[in-house]
Amino acid sequence: MRSEMVAQPRIDRSIEPAGPNVAGVMQAEHDDTDRRGHDDGDDVAPSREQRCRRHGRQFKRRTDVSRAGVLAFGGGGRILEELTIVTDPDANRDANRDADHDVDLLIVGAGPSGLYAAYYAGFRALSVVVVDSLTEPGGQLAALYPEKVIYDVGGIPSILGRELAADLYKQAQTYDPTILLGHSAGELTRLDDETLSVATDTGLTIRAKAILVTAGIGIFTPRPLPAGQQYEGIGLRYFVPDPNALRGKKVLVVGGGDSAVDYALMLESVAESVTVVHRRAEFRAHEMSVQKMRESSVRIMTPYQVSAIEGQGRVEVVEVTDHDTGAVERLEVDDVVAALGFVAELGPLANWGMRLNHRHIAVDTTMATSVARIFAAGDITDYPGKVKLISVGLGEAATAVNNAAVVIDPAKKLFPGHSSDPAKQVG
Ligand SMILES: Cc1cc2nc3c(=O)[nH]c(=O)nc-3n(C[C@H](O)[C@H](O)[C@H](O)COP(=O)(O)OP(=O)(O)OC[C@H]3O[C@@H](n4cnc5c(N)ncnc54)[C@H](O)[C@@H]3O)c2cc1C
Repeated sequence: MRSEMVAQPRIDRSIEPAGPNVAGVMQAEHDDTDRRGHDDGDDVAPSREQRCRRHGRQFKRRTDVSRAGVLAFGGGGRILEELTIVTDPDANRDANRDADHDVDLLIVGAGPSGLYAAYYAGFRALSVVVVDSLTEPGGQLAALYPEKVIYDVGGIPSILGRELAADLYKQAQTYDPTILLGHSAGELTRLDDETLSVATDTGLTIRAKAILVTAGIGIFTPRPLPAGQQYEGIGLRYFVPDPNALRGKKVLVVGGGDSAVDYALMLESVAESVTVVHRRAEFRAHEMSVQKMRESSVRIMTPYQVSAIEGQGRVEVVEVTDHDTGAVERLEVDDVVAALGFVAELGPLANWGMRLNHRHIAVDTTMATSVARIFAAGDITDYPGKVKLISVGLGEAATAVNNAAVVIDPAKKLFPGHSSDPAKQVG
């Protein structure tokens, strides 16, 4: 079978900032870096080595605790014990190293949009492979805010990020998709028969009749805290997957976005003390969360910046400087949580030839991208009036899968009818 490369991308560079933050690199939403650009952190995207180092440690820590966390919530009325989440990336890679796949639909990204799409594609009787570069399913929910409560998903009054990720994963498994965690989608090739072939960074080849890109904000890594990077892993962290790890500790949270405020609120009840340091007077987190934090025991220091971290073998003292007056204060601290936002890379997807708007993928009302047989859904998409929410991504995923189903098999109907029997798939 002869194959040929897909055309080079047409990237709208007009909005791209000069410097290192170039095509395919974008800021994570909902964070310090979101609305005002590069606020608290270093403006330079981390090197691959830094990213790997950070990913390796951070995500290993996540996977270490996630299984216990999932089981712990089983007692809360949800049947989460039944879940089998592949949390060991090496085992997962080994199990799939030599296995190429031929499927109807390849889904890139196992965040909420991708997981729901996997369920929906199964309902449409499509064979599915899902790949995600993270070693856990759930995207931003699982990686960035597992302990945050989500209130705005229809039909679910409140749920933890981790719980929703687990429920979506469980629902995705209804029709047995192949979910490959720890694998990033790489080069795309279009074969003579219109099949799309994607190589992963782990050496797999996945051939699909259509692709659905649900890559969210891309492959994301935390923005480093310039002062004290040498304390990463010994008191300086970027994620708090398990608040119990900071029980009884004096915690300093750095940042002014949703993550920083959410972390402060989450840790208030378990830590000995929580201090939030933010370089601006105003927080950019959700108003209600900021209000809640102001009414809590959290000490708020603005406009302050971390100027140095000290300690013998681990974090002991953090020096903070008043941004306006230059006054310096030394704080006794056990752990620093740097929540400065994220650098997200579109990575190889930027070379797939899809039309990009502001480094998001432009889609039409069917969720089709500018490249035939490639659809997109969730945070990664852009169209007039786009709103980035979990609920929106779920709806887009259903639209994308139903439209992809017709492209994959023109005999299929666009509207599948309504689900009433899990055993019944709609062709
Ligand atoms: C702190 C915070 C709080 C939030 N709170 C809420 C809330 O209360 N309510 C709400 O509706 N929304 C909230 N959001 C937004 C919500 O999390 C997103 O809208 C949602 O996660 C988007 O889902 P997604 O599946 O489209 O993308 P993501 O969740 O970003 O998942 C995308 C996945 O694709 C993977 N990926 C990317 N590139 C590749 C590649 N090349 N190969 C393989 N895998 C790849 C990533 O690793 C990731 O797992 C919040 C976000 C943040 C940061």
